[in-house]
Amino acid sequence: MRVELINTGSELLLGRVLNTHQQWIGQQLAGVGYELAIQQTIPDTESSIEVAVSEAIERSELVIVTGGLGPTGDDMTRQRIAELLEVSLVDHQETRDRIISHFQKRNRPMPESVMVQAQVLEGSTVLPNEYGTAPGLAVSTSKGWLILLPGPPRELRPMYTAYVAPFLAKELPPRRKMVTRTIKTMGIGESTVEELISQELSEFLAQGLEVGYCARVGEVDVRMVAYGSSGPRLIKESETIVRQCLKEYVFGADEDRLEDFIVCGLIERNQTLVVAESCTGGYLSHRITNVSGSSAVFPAGHCVYSNESKESILGVSKIALEKGAVSQSVAREMADRVRLLHKADYALATTGIAGPTGGTEEKPVGTVYIGISTAQGTRVIKECNRCDRETFKYVTSQQALNLLRREWYKKARH
Ligand code: ATP
Repeated sequence: MRVELINTGSELLLGRVLNTHQQWIGQQLAGVGYELAIQQTIPDTESSIEVAVSEAIERSELVIVTGGLGPTGDDMTRQRIAELLEVSLVDHQETRDRIISHFQKRNRPMPESVMVQAQVLEGSTVLPNEYGTAPGLAVSTSKGWLILLPGPPRELRPMYTAYVAPFLAKELPPRRKMVTRTIKTMGIGESTVEELISQELSEFLAQGLEVGYCARVGEVDVRMVAYGSSGPRLIKESETIVRQCLKEYVFGADEDRLEDFIVCGLIERNQTLVVAESCTGGYLSHRITNVSGSSAVFPAGHCVYSNESKESILGVSKIALEKGAVSQSVAREMADRVRLLHKADYALATTGIAGPTGGTEEKPVGTVYIGISTAQGTRVIKECNRCDRETFKYVTSQQALNLLRREWYKKARH
């Protein structure tokens, strides 16, 4: 089955907005066995939309178009496609009611122009927009289906999950059943991952299992794909082997993030975590508080950037600070003190040189000390993360969260 994606939006071509739909929709499609054959990004002009869509529906069974469903003058997708397919636009009462209620709930005046979004292609299936006003539309074509989706990701993604995915599963199921599973690892390189698992998986590879590796900052994903009726069994058995081979390096699967694992782990254990951050500037707290439910297990995070704040807020000793704020002893004291301050079960602390300035021969840019304090003792690791400041914060926060994960792993083995 040929599948095409057309992203409309001059802002995408001007480089002002990153085309995240390409990646996200590509992943959703690939996850259930559709292969995206062509993707185009086109400007918001009548002729571009007309040319791209008329060619696409001629050659592909599934065509997805994003953007241009809004109420402004540059939103012309709905109108152009109606003309192209020679179908009328008709009023859709349910959408009209939804739009009115959208504005009422937000207590905002409703401009009359928004009602253009209640005009839908005659005979189309209307895909409700639960986070905005423009509905998605599914229209049948001579080869299959044309699906129109709104541009904003916060509207498109929930609409795709709730309505498009089930619609496609019913109306245009993928020819081959496909099962995927991604095992997420950290603290180990891509080639070592491959070395550890490829031999063990050889029997499954011979039966059709496909394995791919994707290295990200500080992580390596192992993506497994299998087709047909034996797919679920192949994936299940392969996952067991991969987890056995990679042991403590595995922190989750599919969309799991390390911070989810940590917060869930704390909730399950009914324990608390606090952090004292210098070089990560609050990023560690940010990641933890991004997880829903974190308030139950994360009473406090301190961003103690200066020596004074390390001393006055946490009580880090002058002697340790005078010897150097980026040091093993300061990381240790930060972790211990913040844990005692909040009577928490665990504390993590970071102190380092993010750069690009501030490095010395003895402590080059990238040097970072990360401490973990528990009632059983304190441990500090030293890393060298030479990268831009934002990546430095991400990698350091990843290493800090991983310290706690490994603590649990060690305990579970004893
Ligand atoms: P609106 O009612 O907001 O006008 P729309 O359906 O007409 O919605 P667009 O006007 O094309 O959609 O896009 C609205 C916004 O959504 C864009 O300014 C952009 O921020 C975001 N957006 C659109 N397409 C993409 C894309 N491919 N990737 C990421 N963001 C996008």
